[in-house]
Amino acid sequence: MSEGIRPEGEPFDDDDETIAAALESASVPALLMSLVHLTGETEILRGPIRPPKVVGRMGPGMPKREKAEVRAMLLDALRDYRDRGFTLPPPPSAETIHRMMSFATGDDVPAEYVPMMREEMALDGRDARDVSWDDVPREARERVRVLVIGAGMSGLLAAIRLEEHGVPYDVVEKNDAVGGTWLENSYPGCRVDVANHFYCYSFEPNPDWTEYFARQPELQAYFERCATKYGVRPHVRFRTEVVSAAWDEARSVWDVRLRGPDGREEERSYQVVLSGVGQLNRPRLPEIEGRETFAGPAFHSARWNHDVSLEGKRVGVIGTGASALQLVPEVAKQAERLYVFQRSGAWMSPNPSYHRTVPAGKRWLLRHVPYYARWYRFLLFWPASDGLLPSLIVDPAWPHQDRSVNEQNEQVRIAFTEYMKHQIGDDPELLAKVVPTYPPFVKRMLQDNGSWLGALTQEHVDLVTDPITCITPRGVELAGGRSVDLDVVVFATGFLANKFLWPMEIVGRDGARLRDVWGDDPFAYLGVTVPRFPNFFCLYGPGTNLAHAGSIIFHSECQVRYVMGCLRALLRDGRASMECREDVAAAYEKRRLEATERTVWAHRGTRSWYKNDAGRVTTVSPWRLVDYWGWTREPDLNDFELR
Ligand code: NAP
Repeated sequence: MSEGIRPEGEPFDDDDETIAAALESASVPALLMSLVHLTGETEILRGPIRPPKVVGRMGPGMPKREKAEVRAMLLDALRDYRDRGFTLPPPPSAETIHRMMSFATGDDVPAEYVPMMREEMALDGRDARDVSWDDVPREARERVRVLVIGAGMSGLLAAIRLEEHGVPYDVVEKNDAVGGTWLENSYPGCRVDVANHFYCYSFEPNPDWTEYFARQPELQAYFERCATKYGVRPHVRFRTEVVSAAWDEARSVWDVRLRGPDGREEERSYQVVLSGVGQLNRPRLPEIEGRETFAGPAFHSARWNHDVSLEGKRVGVIGTGASALQLVPEVAKQAERLYVFQRSGAWMSPNPSYHRTVPAGKRWLLRHVPYYARWYRFLLFWPASDGLLPSLIVDPAWPHQDRSVNEQNEQVRIAFTEYMKHQIGDDPELLAKVVPTYPPFVKRMLQDNGSWLGALTQEHVDLVTDPITCITPRGVELAGGRSVDLDVVVFATGFLANKFLWPMEIVGRDGARLRDVWGDDPFAYLGVTVPRFPNFFCLYGPGTNLAHAGSIIFHSECQVRYVMGCLRALLRDGRASMECREDVAAAYEKRRLEATERTVWAHRGTRSWYKNDAGRVTTVSPWRLVDYWGWTREPDLNDFELR
């Protein structure tokens, strides 16, 4: 049983008053599920108290009286549980758990989702995404050498698995600490925008998140803790970059050139290379004439210069994506004058919990109440699974393709426009500027609690929509002739998402250069493995970004399990290498491109980091989570050439 999961929670000796107070902040549907575990009784699933539908919930939720009734039942059950020494009845059967899922969500949860959700919940405390290697001889494990590139979320995850299976490995990390994106993005206001009790490893839940969408320091601390707890840290070579990697077919190894902290280069050989460099790793600076001539401090959102005080300054922020949405309200608190330069507006989804703290009572429940945290996670995952995807498929008969792609998308457009109108009040000029002219979901949907428009409507904040013609030593010049003097410029202009593994030089079998093989159309079978690059695996690779559902952590767990399955096959069968078949990868990529072509992400005439310059969607997965989960459970060795 994983020490991290503890589905039954930790014993407690708190008095009834403390428990009753904690129950006040509970998710009642999750409590009802805990009640079944605590009492072993399932009558409640047939009773009159029923949680409302969790998908698309807008209404008031359960009546107060019913909530109070559930809390009272839980207080009794928890008191009893404490007083009888923390013993639980036998766990619910598989059939009961399926019924509980449908009951808790108010949905008829299809049977095909049950195994995926059960795995995510780990109700038996088992880390089911950890592949069993019982059939791999110890000597074979110890002979192999694996390199993991990057100690961010996915690289750490891979390292944790390698550590667990006793495989010798190194992790190289260009920064001086772990955390990847959660280390590099330290701009004010940086926080996760996927619910945090779901956005953490399934085997390492954290009952202590202080906010529902934690800020960057707390996330980075989480990954630091994981690196230490799972014994990965001693394997990480910090401030070290991979310069190049070349496959030597005769020796079946990757010869990897590393550049260390002192700039010195060395070569090391590894049988297997795992890339965990992510998609949003290399800042994109805008190609604006004169960019480098600006006389004051100028920096990218992911390279925040904390030495520069913004107090009393005229600050310009270029860009209005997810990073800008988070940092602008914070910068507005400091700057004397703030100019936000917008090329296109951003759609945002109202999320009242976005900046809310998790009450102490709720943290108590997450830590102590049996199975509560696991069901709470499920209740976050279910509405963020595949329900949205059908609404992102273009209806070719829909007559308003410029503003929405189908009827449902139009409804979202209207609702989110109303949300903005409601905040702005009577300011048609600002409204015309902020409401996007493209359909919702073409770009990443942002989360908002009103802080964005709250900032833009302040006296000292200007939303500038005239295009920037050039940057000068004094500030920016705009089309129409206006110039804006600035003291500091912030480029919230995104990342070179389509340049996977850039600037590394990766050379595979027969001298194939990854850069040439990919060009502007990076691809990988299942987003993981590329023909002519044996024993080389990508995590969060091409075509795996999630724009409709789930969390990247869930996806990385799927990918790491798949890769560990590949390694297991290599070592168990005494093979030197495995390489994805060309026909398999080509057919997969054809299907993936055809699928993305039918989605809102391919919308013509709108830029986004989901697409390459030719407009093809290269970074995003169009698949249902449940399908991708199924395909990556274990590798089909027929997809590979094994040598
Ligand atoms: P982004 O979404 O790519 O946005 C870049 C912004 O810069 C866009 O508004 C873009 O305008 C603008 N821009 C780019 N070049 C420009 C130019 N030459 N002149 C004027 N404007 C220019 O980048 P991001 O905001 O850093 O976010 C990237 C992704 O990172 C997000 O989608 C998300 O996946 C992730 N992220 C997540 C979080 C979170 O979870 N909390 C926070 C931040 C980022 P156009 O739209 O017109 O191209």
